[in-house]
Amino acid sequence: MRDFSVDHRWLSLNTATVRKQGSLVEIVEACARRGIRAIDPWRDQVASVGLDRAVRAVRDAGLELSGYCRGGMFVADAAHRIEVRDDNRRVIDEAKALGAPCIVLVAGGLPQYSRVGSAASRDIAQARTQVHDGIAEMLEYATQANMPLAIEPLHPAYAADRACVNTTRQALDLCDALDPKRTGMLGVALDVYHIWWDFELMPQITRAGKDRLLAFHVCDWLVPTKDILNDRGMMGDGVIDIKSVRAAVEAQGFAGYSEIEIFSNAWWQKPMDEVLWTCIERHRSVV
Ligand code: ZN
Repeated sequence: MRDFSVDHRWLSLNTATVRKQGSLVEIVEACARRGIRAIDPWRDQVASVGLDRAVRAVRDAGLELSGYCRGGMFVADAAHRIEVRDDNRRVIDEAKALGAPCIVLVAGGLPQYSRVGSAASRDIAQARTQVHDGIAEMLEYATQANMPLAIEPLHPAYAADRACVNTTRQALDLCDALDPKRTGMLGVALDVYHIWWDFELMPQITRAGKDRLLAFHVCDWLVPTKDILNDRGMMGDGVIDIKSVRAAVEAQGFAGYSEIEIFSNAWWQKPMDEVLWTCIERHRSVV
């Protein structure tokens, strides 16, 4: 297992962590000043400064990407399926322009929450089928573009509105069904916030192996969690044994960035420099 205590060369910042404190360009500059070498930007943050400017900012600062957030939201009614397909193709084009190593996929839940304007449904089994079919379709375009797709299983509390893929096993079942030859184009993004509770986590990480482990996200689970979306904890402030999960993914050969992704009403109130400084310190001491 890599020693993170001596420096923060393997720290990547998911830019949603400081989304309220500045534009993507300001975040990129702040990361560069702090010696943070990589980011994972969100599409809306890229769009708000413009793709060309975002590409330039990342390049000028010498940053790498650890992923691009996000594609997916595959569940929609019939009237919106083409929109979903085209939107996901644009994600791939943007990720290519930015030099991302993979796209993080959030699968989508029920159609009325996954795609604005879709007719309401309670059929979660149908939602799962659409996710399967949607990834299959996206994977063709992604493979042509040589852009790997990383399915992120989300905590079951998000099944209705964000993702009906809720465990590492379920995400890997999709990978095995859609990419049985393990081409490297389909894998998982494992975020400790979503998966730490899963009694099958360790054997599923072993099952994933190096070629399916495309991204690793860290934060912490606070007790109590007051807001399932926007009350993530800073590493060390909650109950997740982050080191043991990192040890497991690294035992499989994962050697990428440890990406800090904290959606938090509390941390969004603090100055960007304080958040980044704390991220660096906890990355060294807790991750
Ligand atoms: Zn994540």
